[in-house]
Amino acid sequence: MDCIFCKIINGEIPGKFVYRDKNVVAFFDIRPKSPIHLLVMPIKHIESLINISFNDKNLLAEMTLVVVKVANKLGLDKSGYKVIINNGKGSGQVVFHLHMHLLGGWHETPHWQV
Ligand code: 5GP
Ligand code: ZN
Repeated sequence: MDCIFCKIINGEIPGKFVYRDKNVVAFFDIRPKSPIHLLVMPIKHIESLINISFNDKNLLAEMTLVVVKVANKLGLDKSGYKVIINNGKGSGQVVFHLHMHLLGGWHETPHWQV
């Protein structure tokens, strides 16, 4: 399958991993949009929330808990963080393997929040 995130998950392409279990991984975004920018995703290839099924409910819960675990590990709970999921081309999604963006690490108020 021609999916860049599947290739990173299976080691064909390098990734800077901070977490991996049997269902979920987390690694740093290659072009960070914040001081700390991670991607948290299922190992299973699902394109986006548009393609999710009810059977994936535990997986979605696990992804959310991994976001929290990784955020705590990196101290982002101190600074606060954003969790964003793009779904479909119109949202700006460019990699069609479901992923949560974990954005944080600001030491002051982000410029877009005045
Ligand atoms: P999307 O717009 O699909 O929600 O976000 C895709 C994200 O994947 C972007 O933030 C982009 O920087 C990141 N990305 C694209 N290619 C790679 C890659 O090869 N490695 C890593 N670590 N991140 C990537
Ligand atoms: Zn994939």
